[in-house]
Amino acid sequence: MQKSNILGVGITTEKEDKILEYIIKDLGKPKKKRQKIVIFTPNPEQISQASRDEELKTLLNQAEIALPDGVFVPVAARLLRAPIDRRITGVDFMKSLVKTISEQPVVTGYLGGQRGVAEKAANCLRKIYPNLRVGYASEAYDRQRMIRSDIDILFVALGFPKQEKWIIEHKDEIPATVLMGVGGAFDFISGAVPRAPKFVRDIGFEWLFRLTIQPWRFKRQLQIWHFAGLIFARALSNRVKKMKNER
Ligand code: UDP
Repeated sequence: MQKSNILGVGITTEKEDKILEYIIKDLGKPKKKRQKIVIFTPNPEQISQASRDEELKTLLNQAEIALPDGVFVPVAARLLRAPIDRRITGVDFMKSLVKTISEQPVVTGYLGGQRGVAEKAANCLRKIYPNLRVGYASEAYDRQRMIRSDIDILFVALGFPKQEKWIIEHKDEIPATVLMGVGGAFDFISGAVPRAPKFVRDIGFEWLFRLTIQPWRFKRQLQIWHFAGLIFARALSNRVKKMKNER
């Protein structure tokens, strides 16, 4: 999967349907022949943090697929002339992936969140897709149970960067082919936290809606300004370099 560099963090440039196709192709192979696919969803706050922290940057760059989560990632990409034209949020991608495999013999797992939320999210998905296979759904990790249930896709909701560290640390001991960090997705899917209405999401203001229902995010979201400053500085320096080269 092709990536573009945004402040040192590789972000996947492929469209959602191509990414899904890539994953489904891998899942279609016998388990031993599959390649592990780690999916992270770097948003501007995370990219900004990673640009100042080599360890976080290395962690994020270990993903085969890094989805451009957050409306400001494609905006930044445009300024840096990177081919990322729309955001793909973790929760939307998770839902698309579940929908795509819901009739196939693919077992899903849900780990993390507040007590009972993983199970509730899995139940909500099964209401929509009755044939969806759920092998594991719990806030706590039980290695034996997870191995026994033979998960193909594991969604991990432990928040950033805990879930990313957990995935990298455990990916080889778990038989899952796809491991995805999904942040607050279980909260949205189970209805524990309301999601912004579609029109708010479409005009790029989901972050503001989230701030009104979870005001403690304010400090975290201030990082967006740091991100914007770094992007403008990088875009300006790229233009100056280009002008010098053209002289
Ligand atoms: N969470 C968890 N364990 C932790 C920290 C967070 O299970 O130690 C869960 C939390 O309940 C929430 C999810 O991780 O459901 C995502 O957290 P957050 O909203 O902070 O992540 P974001 O969506 O901002 O990445």
